[in-house]
Amino acid sequence: MAEAVAAAEVELPLVAFADAVAGCTRCALAKSRTQVVFGAGAPDADLMFVGEAPGFHEDKQGVPFVGAAGQLLGKLLGGIGLRREDVYIANVLKCRPPGNRDPQPEEIEACEGHLFRQIELIRPKVVATLGNFATKLLSGKPLGITRVHGQEQEVVLGGSRVVLYPLFHPAAALYTPRMLEVLQSDFARLPELLGRTVVPPPEPVPLLALAPEPVEQVQLGLF
Ligand code: URA
Repeated sequence: MAEAVAAAEVELPLVAFADAVAGCTRCALAKSRTQVVFGAGAPDADLMFVGEAPGFHEDKQGVPFVGAAGQLLGKLLGGIGLRREDVYIANVLKCRPPGNRDPQPEEIEACEGHLFRQIELIRPKVVATLGNFATKLLSGKPLGITRVHGQEQEVVLGGSRVVLYPLFHPAAALYTPRMLEVLQSDFARLPELLGRTVVPPPEPVPLLALAPEPVEQVQLGLF
């Protein structure tokens, strides 16, 4: 019951925000899109995925990750015991770039406020970024996904501390078996990250207190 109330408290402002964004004309993609692809999933999800931009199918259906990359994302989620409805899925850009070209800097700049507001409303514990564009935007660093995948970091997004977890984009993993293996093994750490609460860094400990006490050596039995 309390959970249902909490979800409803988030859902209403999120739906109102989605309605407002549906008419967005902040960049030129407004002219070529079929519709804004706002995002989908649990409005109070602990885990949020952020991809790059809607593709052909997403633009037609108005739902993120419904094409081949989305099928793979669904399978990866299933592998850790989650369904799409348990998480929230969004993109850096809410409108499809023509021909699925890369997002342009001015488009990202125009659209990023929508994503930050979404994060502010959903307040996820873990934000998993899929690919370079989401990773660079949300980490605020220029480091590419090949360098940082699988390495979680705490950042402040939408006014809250979250664990940012960069992953390879499923679309890239579709055609590169080695990347798929890495994506799967990075994915396998998500349950652990979700269980981990974000705690403020500990008070600095005086160096002397860190010196090891002399202890009697004990042989640990295996059983
Ligand atoms: N790729 C993305 O980054 N987002 C989608 O919604 C679909 C494919």
